[in-house]
Amino acid sequence: LAPNAPRPMPRVLALANQKGGVGKTTTAINLGTALAAIGETVLIVDLDPQGNASTGLGIDRRSRRVSTYDVLTGEVEFRDAILETAVPRLHIAPSTMDLSGVELELAGQRDRAYRLRDAIRRLNAPSGMSIRQRNDIDYTYVLIDCPPSLNLITVNAMAAANAILVPLQCEFFALEGLSQLLKTVEQVRSTLNPDLTIHGVVLTMFDARNNLSSQVVEDVRQFMGEKVYETIIPRNVRVSEAPSYGKPVLLYDLKCVGSQAYLRLASEIIQRERTLRATAAA
Ligand code: ADP
Ligand code: MG
Repeated sequence: LAPNAPRPMPRVLALANQKGGVGKTTTAINLGTALAAIGETVLIVDLDPQGNASTGLGIDRRSRRVSTYDVLTGEVEFRDAILETAVPRLHIAPSTMDLSGVELELAGQRDRAYRLRDAIRRLNAPSGMSIRQRNDIDYTYVLIDCPPSLNLITVNAMAAANAILVPLQCEFFALEGLSQLLKTVEQVRSTLNPDLTIHGVVLTMFDARNNLSSQVVEDVRQFMGEKVYETIIPRNVRVSEAPSYGKPVLLYDLKCVGSQAYLRLASEIIQRERTLRATAAA
């Protein structure tokens, strides 16, 4: 590319579900790692004040001096908030508890819902337009880990995203809250981001020994049809252990069923992206 040629934009996927504990963060970390493992260049954006994605990728609190809070308030350029991880081609913009106050901070700002979108647009901008030192890279995927609520932070993620990826836990109340989530996506589409789509629904924590899990899979497929990925993420103790070592499960135990499932999910997502591009070009 010529020095000032427009650079390719990343595909921006937001992991959203206002329910907590459904696998958003786990999927952000491990899907991000799997995409990086198969050659993509990935940025995870931690938009949850809890900072679990940052912790799970081994970023300790002391190294979070610059965070997504500073990006949303406009204090810094995105590039200056980005840290490398132990996984090659996988970077993270970490979060801190400050982020929980950002909604008040941005109240009354006309562009408050577009803070993240605009920061991402500047991310792959031509050299010279932003600080491109250590991180002179173009991301092919940006994965946004949303907080468990439909607040201004999540709205920023939806306004910035090309598509939403919805993790649903295989448990009794899986579909509860889904229509509220879909309604919010619809509202964002009709106001802030007309091109927003649902990329897919990923079923998580599937337990083969539990009949309920299979029933949930059936119900969700009935309700969401083709949108549900073929890959189902099993409940796997290795997946839940890995964050306490500050590692994605693919680094912790590549052979376990959880790692293998996330690798399959990554290929499925890339395949879906190809189909989308082919349809768009036709
Ligand atoms: P969310 O970000 O939606 O709140 P998390 O990704 O933090 O959800 O997951 C909630 C809890 O479930 C975490 O303790 C995580 O380790 C655990 N968990 C997530 N996915 C799996 C899985 N496939 N197998 C076992 N435990 C999992
Ligand atoms: Mg989370």
